This record gives sequence, structure tokens and C-alpha cells, in this order.
Amino acid sequence: AALDIASPKRTNDLLRKHNLTLKKSLGQNFLVDPNILNKIVSAADLDASKGALEIGPGIGALTQQLAKIAGRVVAVEIDQRLLPLLQETLEGYPQATVVLGDVLKVDLRALIKEQFQGVSKISVVANLPYYVTTPILMKLLEEKLPLEHIVVMIQKEVADRMAAPPGGKDYGSLSIAVQYYCEPEIVTIVPHTVFIPQPNVDSAVIKLTVRERPPVEVEDEAFFFDVVQASFTQRRKTIYNNLAAKYFTKETKPQLEGLLHEAGIEPSRRGETLSMEEYARLSRVLARHLN
Ligand code: SAM
Repeated sequence: AALDIASPKRTNDLLRKHNLTLKKSLGQNFLVDPNILNKIVSAADLDASKGALEIGPGIGALTQQLAKIAGRVVAVEIDQRLLPLLQETLEGYPQATVVLGDVLKVDLRALIKEQFQGVSKISVVANLPYYVTTPILMKLLEEKLPLEHIVVMIQKEVADRMAAPPGGKDYGSLSIAVQYYCEPEIVTIVPHTVFIPQPNVDSAVIKLTVRERPPVEVEDEAFFFDVVQASFTQRRKTIYNNLAAKYFTKETKPQLEGLLHEAGIEPSRRGETLSMEEYARLSRVLARHLN
């Protein structure tokens, strides 16, 4: 098999050899630290019976390590210029396949069906392009793909928001969306020095274990997320004011206080203090009233 490429020297040599200049617009910050790669790969609980779906293989540093452990690796890369390089770095790993495409446009359910036949469990493992972290993760979650874990390197600030419990400044609609579908765990904080080129922010590896079923009972998921979103529209305002602005008119507004009480929520609270269970209750009460 090809040499491991996760070192600054090997990475720079390869980029030079292929005359490749990295595109900031595609979030091309390549990992050059074997220890961090190790932490990512071990967090994913892979073995030869399992598969890894990688998003953005770059020049293949993580792909190589995944291919050593997983039975099957499929990596979706948007930048065509990287294909010859990946062919070189993935030589000797026949279980690894690169697919050219924009992960936001690819039909991932079809890709999984096609590419992971006979594989027991599939996890997404990636060092994500930071400019599209949230859209990519929301796509993976909302499409309810058959995934075991999602282990990804993302901006530390975004990881903190995803894993945040109620009550603090990091807690918001992203926390609730992620925690509705998954159990989050921050695996490690990563300094910007382990990338070429170095990004301006610190990163974190987050492990999302996909739940078999949501932790709360929600009748209309779209409406539940709509209520959550509305409750955080103006963080400094009360839940009462945010909901009034979104769902009520001057005439219907007097009913809101009673509805909040029916859901067991003090109207003077702020959105950031409500648990997921409270949002579920609130959305059930509001749905019954508004529809
Ligand atoms: N996995 C490599 C590593 O860890 O060194 C590269 C990670 S780099 C942060 C992100 C990679 O995602 C780049 O190779 C970039 O070209 C690719 N990428 C960016 N946008 C993408 C998209 N929409 N779909 C698929 N790949 C994308």
C-alpha cells in the first residue's frame, strides 16, 4: 500500500508534485497529524464488517487510515483536481472508492445502498469543509440515513453549540436539532497547527451517535423545529415575546399566556432555558391550538 501521508513533509511533497494549490473556498485544510487521525478513526468504532462514508477526502490522509480498519470506504470529493492524487495515495486499498460530487447534491441514500452492500453498519467519518459544516450535518440527520455514528472534525465553536445543554449561551436551535437525532460527545479539541494550511479557528472532533428513536415525542417534526427556531429568534427576548411575534396577532395574543401555562412553561422564561422535553410539550400544545 501507499505510504501514510499524514505528515507536513509528505503532504507538501505531494501537493508540489501534483502542482496543486489549495482552495480556501472549498475549505481545504488538510490534516497532517497521525495522532489526531488516530483519535478520529478510533472514535468511529470501525471494524472489517463495517463501512465508512467520508466527506471530502482531500489527498487521502484520513481515507488511508479508514481503509486500514473498515471493510469498505467510500469518499465523496467535490474537487476533481484531487482525483489523480487520491489514486496515488489510495493505491493498495481496493476497499476504498472515491466518488466525485458535491455531498450536498448527491443522493446519499442511493449511494449507501449501491456502495455498501453486505456491510453491517455505516458511519460518516470526516474532516469537514468548514464553510458547509452545518448544511452537511443537517442533511445527514434530516434524511435519516442508516448511520451508526457521525464522527467529524468541525470548528470548536460549532461543536460546542451542538453538544450544549440547556441554560447557556451555546444552547440554541442547532443543539436541539442535533440532540433530537443523536447523542453528541466531544472527543477532543484540536489546535489549528495540525492542518496545512492552518485555519484561523480551533477545531474539535465530535462524535454523534445516531439514536434509534427521538428522545421526545413529537407529532409534527417540522412544526417542532419551527417552534424551536422561533423561540430563539431574539435570544434576549422572552419565550412569550418570540412566540407572539411568530404565531399570534394582536387579537389572538391574549391566548398565548394560557397556552404556555398549559405546557407548564412560565411566559417570562427565555428560549435558552427550555429543555427539549419542554419544547416538545410546547409544540404539541401550540399545534393543537393553531391548526
Ligand atoms: N480529509 C482530508 C483531510 O483530513 O486532510 C481533507 C479535509 S478538508 C478540511 C475538506 C475537503 O472537503 C476538501 O478536500 C474539499 O475539497 C472537500 N469538499 C469541500 N466541499 C465539498 C462538498 N460540497 N462535497 C464534497 N467535498 C467537499
